[in-house]
Amino acid sequence: MTPDEFRAYGHQVVDWVADYWATLEQRPVLPSDPPGTVAGKLPARAPVAGEGVDAILKDLDEVVLPGVTHWQHPGFFAYFPANTSGPSVLGDLVSSGLGVQGMLWATSPAATEVETVVLDWLVGLLGLPERFLSTGAGGGVIQDSASSATLVATLAALHRASGGEWRSAGVRRRFTAYTSTQGHSSIEKAARIAGIGDGQVRAVETDEACAMRPEALRAALAADVAAGCVPAIVVATIGTTSTTAVDPLPAIAEICREYGVWLHVDAAYAGSAAVCPELRWSHAGVEFADSYCFDPHKWLLTGFDCDAFWVADRAELVQALTVLPEYLRNAASDSGAVLDYRDWQVPLGRRFRALKLWFVLRWYGEEGLRAHIRSGVAAAQWFAERVRADERFEVVAPHPFSLVCFRLRSDDGDGADEQNAALLARANASGAAYLTHTRVHGRYALRLAVGSPRTEERHVAAAWELIAGLAGEPG
Ligand code: PLP
Repeated sequence: MTPDEFRAYGHQVVDWVADYWATLEQRPVLPSDPPGTVAGKLPARAPVAGEGVDAILKDLDEVVLPGVTHWQHPGFFAYFPANTSGPSVLGDLVSSGLGVQGMLWATSPAATEVETVVLDWLVGLLGLPERFLSTGAGGGVIQDSASSATLVATLAALHRASGGEWRSAGVRRRFTAYTSTQGHSSIEKAARIAGIGDGQVRAVETDEACAMRPEALRAALAADVAAGCVPAIVVATIGTTSTTAVDPLPAIAEICREYGVWLHVDAAYAGSAAVCPELRWSHAGVEFADSYCFDPHKWLLTGFDCDAFWVADRAELVQALTVLPEYLRNAASDSGAVLDYRDWQVPLGRRFRALKLWFVLRWYGEEGLRAHIRSGVAAAQWFAERVRADERFEVVAPHPFSLVCFRLRSDDGDGADEQNAALLARANASGAAYLTHTRVHGRYALRLAVGSPRTEERHVAAAWELIAGLAGEPG
């Protein structure tokens, strides 16, 4: 494809995306075809002779789009949002066009330096502790996901807990990891990959609000130490996946200090809320964390993949992960004056992902980002009020951010779960809204997560009308 062909087709594709966004609301949020429908319409082999962009776009419309779940739809309330935005897509386009491989500072200085500056900006924007700034001993880096952030935090924690022995000798002692019963599954996965073993991850009990009980953490640590285990990492969560519970960081941090354990804070979804000063209470105690991450690709208008991860002491992370073959040696790295992000992550290679974040931060500014978060929080609080005001329903967990967990009230144990599951299925079958579910204190609950960039209060109102209406109908 020549640059002129690219220009022409590029305009066509940008138009396609703009039209898609402009007409999203007219589409059902979820596809309804059975498994295999999309694959069944695609040829069994790649084309022998190249095809034109028009033919590709035709199949995009006719084959691919009918099988797409529309995560940017204003009626998307499932899981957590996976935001994207115009500036994010444009930044990503530039990154793809540059095709830079930023594994070392020397392989493209701007890729590293823009990332370092943008992550330092985010420290200020979220009110994070200054010890995460690259100008001191800490620093931030973009990972593909919160799962990867937790994995590298776990590796750095193992390095520390083993006194460096882990790097050369592997996992020789019975290391343990801790999170609450509500911690994300990626914590178990990280422990498994790191060689700690998911059987050595302690699921610490939670309280009524689904937040970790510090005294239960202390008891678990004490029991493990008495049994000869070596506690390596505690992962606390700000905004758990199920209900957005906030673990009490100050108390947890104190216990981590007592036991010399690495404290990683997973704020994958709720970290974005910290752009609003009035929501920063949720981050109290983060100044004691050894590492912290959140996903701008969830709720901060930046397209997947983009997890922002910081450490208080970058030397520990780099020591844990660095391997230096001759072919990567270069004068800049040898000088010690540059950051080489390959040493901060599992893969060697890395995209220029900071560009999309840079575009987003510059386009929206603090004010625009705050407005986005505030509108999601306000709409969710409005929804919770409607649920509370309707005696057929109950809100089943605190809802400090933009997620509301609720259910139809019933005294009928298992039957109530079935009724709620049926309500969810009927709401989703409408095509107007898409919600998912969880279990809170063992009982089935519906989750409504606001945060898609196109969602306005009227869409949340329509979702409430839909659910309240369906609840009145026989199943
Ligand atoms: N941690 C929490 C609290 C989450 O809610 C999620 C995803 O929803 C994750 C981690 C995993 O995120 P990622 O897909 O970025 O790995």
